[in-house]
Amino acid sequence: MNKSVRNALGVSLDDVQNHNKRVILNALHKSGSCSRKEISQLVGLDQATVTRAIKPLIEKGLIVETGVRKAARGRSSIYLGFNTEHLRIVSVRIQRTNFSIDVYDLNGASLNNVIKPINTEDSSEQLIDYLIQQVSNVLDAQDGEVLGIAVAIPGPFLEQDNKIILMTDAKNWQHIDFISHMRNQFPEYPIYAGHDAKLAALAVWRQLQSTYDPSVLLYVSLGQGVGSGLVIEGQVYHGSLGTAGEIGHMSIDFQGPQCKCGNVGCLELYSSTTALVERYKQESSVESADLQVVVDAYHNTEPAGLASVDYLAKCLAHGLVSNINQLNPDLVVIGDELSQLGATFLELVKKHTFGLLLPELANNIRLVLDESNEDLVHKGNYHNVMSNELLLPLVRLGIKAP
Ligand SMILES: [Zn+2]
Repeated sequence: MNKSVRNALGVSLDDVQNHNKRVILNALHKSGSCSRKEISQLVGLDQATVTRAIKPLIEKGLIVETGVRKAARGRSSIYLGFNTEHLRIVSVRIQRTNFSIDVYDLNGASLNNVIKPINTEDSSEQLIDYLIQQVSNVLDAQDGEVLGIAVAIPGPFLEQDNKIILMTDAKNWQHIDFISHMRNQFPEYPIYAGHDAKLAALAVWRQLQSTYDPSVLLYVSLGQGVGSGLVIEGQVYHGSLGTAGEIGHMSIDFQGPQCKCGNVGCLELYSSTTALVERYKQESSVESADLQVVVDAYHNTEPAGLASVDYLAKCLAHGLVSNINQLNPDLVVIGDELSQLGATFLELVKKHTFGLLLPELANNIRLVLDESNEDLVHKGNYHNVMSNELLLPLVRLGIKAP
């Protein structure tokens, strides 16, 4: 039978075989290492089909036989896993004052994270040239093949145009069509783009699924900006333009200061790292400080450190409560730079948040801090490429490669 002939539903033998390969890779991705027999049991395909589908995956360097292990009843089986030597995923994360590039193996291990500060006075053209040059250097340094490149972009990010609409304090990053530039420069690679907080939310969901089994996960990133991602039953919620999750531009005070988005009293003006440092400077009457100074002051229980973090937690609570009342998540995860404030910060946020919620809601929601110690945005980029290129495309994120 010609493998490309389609049946009445438009499905060809090729489609079925490709689907089987993705099902098998998905099982390996979830479990880490399996024998052919275990894969067959996990995915519900007979062992002969599994063996047939695996052969080309080994030939292509996607998976390898990792060794022999004794299974139940004393029988030995050959185990399989992703080939971590050959294929690489290149992840780019753009932020206000820098961008970073990481390289992942197929198991999601970060191999080489480099952070490149940018001059915010540079023109858009200079920024793009610099970014392309750095990505190019990383690509040149890879021994193996590159499966795909993923770019994480701060919001508000118009997914359909691949454009940042607003990045406060970094106006030259705005309205740049990064992805077109990247695709022109690197036409040989599939390139994916996504909103950073949504990517991080996806990574968090993958990480915490087995621990909490959340139905609705709200991830809130507290960094140079404030963003969020909502994952409902494993699917990232995008909104009609892809700009959903802009919790940072939700007002917590209608008489508050003007924000560049057009709204007033936006949460980002109170709960970002920038806002925290400014508040600390007021509390301590010092002229200059950076995030590390504030974090140290907080951990050393200095009054200005405690007061500025408490104020941030109070403001954040107002934003969280509106979202919790609206969305009814069962798990809220706080991550990014401010997660380094640690357990006492989490307790502060809980105290202020739960005090504003109906007890029935407060008693049934888990509020946790991301403790993974990895860059979740980069990890989300890894998941985005894996989902689109190799696994079951359960997650739609950003723009599909052409
Ligand atoms: Zn705003």
